[in-house]
Amino acid sequence: MANYDPNNIFAKILRGEMLAYKVFEDDKVFAFLDIMPRAPGHTLVVPKAPARTIIDVAADDLTAVMKVTQKIARAAMTVFAADGITIQQFNEPAGGQVVFHLHVHMIPRKNGVALKPPLSFKEEPAVLSDHAARLAAALKA
Ligand code: 5GP
Repeated sequence: MANYDPNNIFAKILRGEMLAYKVFEDDKVFAFLDIMPRAPGHTLVVPKAPARTIIDVAADDLTAVMKVTQKIARAAMTVFAADGITIQQFNEPAGGQVVFHLHVHMIPRKNGVALKPPLSFKEEPAVLSDHAARLAAALKA
């Protein structure tokens, strides 16, 4: 794929070269916590196949990513006692994208609590481990 940089951070996570707080995995999709969460439980859902943006992702990979996003959103409502879920997806720098492997943000929300600004706060590893384990367990239940 001409416009795909295989050295982006999420490609490294998919190859196991960088640590990730895994929430879910199947043959097409990998989901892991955002290390700079905009709210507790902020999860990133990515296709395993290389794709830079929604413009070039294969339709079946996009479908698989959205099905997993829904599954995780349902689990997150319970695990994080959420009142709602925000889904975000950014494409190209003009669209707000920072990491160039297609991803969907799933962010649990509480009534009256604003999102933290993007990239503003790095969560503690112990908290991320706990949140990932609780979400993963809820998905298996
Ligand atoms: P976007 O490209 O949609 O703007 O967002 C990229 C997201 O990746 C941001 O929310 C940022 O916090 C997250 N991020 C950046 N570096 C890492 C990393 O090394 N690991 C994880 N899990 N998330 C990251």
